[in-house]
Amino acid sequence: MKTSDNPLLQQFNTPFNTAPFSIITEDLYEDAFAKAIKIAQEEITLITSNKEEPSFENTIEALDKAGEKLGRISSIFFNLNSAETNDEIQRIAREVSPQLSKFSNDVTLNLDLFERVKHVYNKRDQLDLNPEQLTLLDKKYKRFSRNGALLDDKQKERLREIDTQLAQLSLQFGENVLAATNAFEMHITDESKLSGLPESALEAAKEAATSRDKEGYIFTLDYPSYIPLMTYADDRELRKEMSLAFGSRAFKDDHDNQKNVLQIAQLRFERAQLLGYDSHAHFILEERMAGSPEQVNDFLNELLEKAQPAAQSEFDELQRFAQNHKDFPIDQLQKWDSAYYSEKLKQQRFELDDELLKPYFKLENVINGAFEIANKLFGLTFKKNTEIDSYHKDVMIYEVYNEDKSLNSIFYADFFPRKGKRNGAWMTSFKSQWKEDGHDSRPHVSIVCNFTKPTSTKPSLLTFNEVTTLFHEFGHALHGMLANTTYRSLSGTSVHWDFVELPSQVLENWCYEKEALELFARHFETNEVIPQEYIEKIKAAATFLEGMQTMRQLSFGLLDISWHGIDPSQIEDVKDHERTTFEKTDLYPDVPSSCMSTAFSHIFQGGYSAGYYSYKWAEVLDADAFEFFKQKGIFNREVADLFKDNVLSMGGTEDPMELYVRFRGSKPKTDALLKRAGLIKT
Ligand SMILES: [Zn+2]
Repeated sequence: MKTSDNPLLQQFNTPFNTAPFSIITEDLYEDAFAKAIKIAQEEITLITSNKEEPSFENTIEALDKAGEKLGRISSIFFNLNSAETNDEIQRIAREVSPQLSKFSNDVTLNLDLFERVKHVYNKRDQLDLNPEQLTLLDKKYKRFSRNGALLDDKQKERLREIDTQLAQLSLQFGENVLAATNAFEMHITDESKLSGLPESALEAAKEAATSRDKEGYIFTLDYPSYIPLMTYADDRELRKEMSLAFGSRAFKDDHDNQKNVLQIAQLRFERAQLLGYDSHAHFILEERMAGSPEQVNDFLNELLEKAQPAAQSEFDELQRFAQNHKDFPIDQLQKWDSAYYSEKLKQQRFELDDELLKPYFKLENVINGAFEIANKLFGLTFKKNTEIDSYHKDVMIYEVYNEDKSLNSIFYADFFPRKGKRNGAWMTSFKSQWKEDGHDSRPHVSIVCNFTKPTSTKPSLLTFNEVTTLFHEFGHALHGMLANTTYRSLSGTSVHWDFVELPSQVLENWCYEKEALELFARHFETNEVIPQEYIEKIKAAATFLEGMQTMRQLSFGLLDISWHGIDPSQIEDVKDHERTTFEKTDLYPDVPSSCMSTAFSHIFQGGYSAGYYSYKWAEVLDADAFEFFKQKGIFNREVADLFKDNVLSMGGTEDPMELYVRFRGSKPKTDALLKRAGLIKT
């Protein structure tokens, strides 16, 4: 291999082989990417030009190792593009992204390579491979077959046509939703009409008006404007107007998506059939824990049946509350009343506000609490290291050790918002875990959040929502840290899409447990442990109107699978189809001018098609898993070991259902979630 003086391409001469941020300057990236792509190409050519018979080692393993340098550079670069970006990094991202997709497509379309992979795949029964190797082989083979490698030339051409059309239609779909969203604004000059709205919402609406050279207030269909109005505006007519506008986006207006919806569903179906699948959902779910649309339908319908009675009684209760409201009584609860009266009822019942809880959640205490829980469960210890290079001074870096004092991983924690960091919270890694020649190469894991910064007089105090966010991301991080696999592409969080939220969501459960809260939820001034009544309130508030919420999520999941689990040529009218699908889940009267599908970007624009169910799926998994801990004690080492050995350390090396059953002793059941949500009695 050629030598280069670009430090990104060299062996990193750093503690623990960590990324050398202090010497990485932006001008190095483009050169590094170009050369790393070339190296990866050469590695692929070495595989295809091998004169020996294709074997697991010289083809599948070699393919998994190919592009290691490129992977390392990509993770450093794209992690920075999310956490510490600037104009130059964004320009480079625009420049290199197409090159990276081209390289990836070239690999997938490389026929010589596929022939070798197929050769190994067809002989898999005679190769005496272990489960991890079989999974790797299956994954590599499917990367080709699911992209049409087994088709004849004519079929391949049709597949490319469909892909091109689908890309255009999804884009068009998204543009229509955006245009329809932007086409509406509600202009209000009479401030008295806006009673109920908090100061912050009024200010934002005033700014929106000013920026358009208008007097008064402007509300739009963007969430930061729409949600507060729907939640707080006392004037029912305003809410109705907004709700109707929101519900009819891209439906029978200038940006109508009805045709696009039908066409996208039809083309996805044709694509799936071409590749030998019954439907688009069958194609998607082949690589998911749920496995098939039948399973997803059964799952959603089972939850629906069990949650329905609770949801209906919540609805009746909310309706009674609205009918008897002292200031704004109404007769029949409509969709535009939901958020408003829910909020009023919630306030009346809980009087729980963030300011009351925040003093108990000082960031340092919370993160140390998470570390202590990881110690009690998995024997991990965390040691701060200020010598390791970081990309920003706010980032804290830890060496993580196993119980036997061996190095587990390097952990980066980046908590505060700043210009150059995108919104939200996420877990990522700068280096994954793998094993080679008897050596276990440990991962470099990172969590990035946007929590309230400390000031000169006050430490960073988290809202309860931020506390659960931290635990959520830390749960993902544990999945990365405890990885113990041979192949890098199966390591850590590289698991099926509907399995990846199990470790993160399960860890959130500790935030609601007295035994865990006592470890870290202490008043930052008095050191007093959080009062029990607050814990009770937090728990009760977390499941407030959960039945109605569940019905809403289920309705979206069922709508998604209804579009993708069948031959959509049977569907003639978008709204009719939707109305039939929603019949079982709708608690509110139907609004004839509204349509969900035409603005359902998750499934018609983004990557959630045949995947919306996974929100609830993950909840069922985490509730069922945590119930096991609850039964044996939330710090029970036996259960923790089972979880570590069968789930956290295994990554994507085996079928997730099998892994789960090995941990839990049985398949996940919906009961734990329904109980936790208060939807069935214990
Ligand atoms: Zn997550």
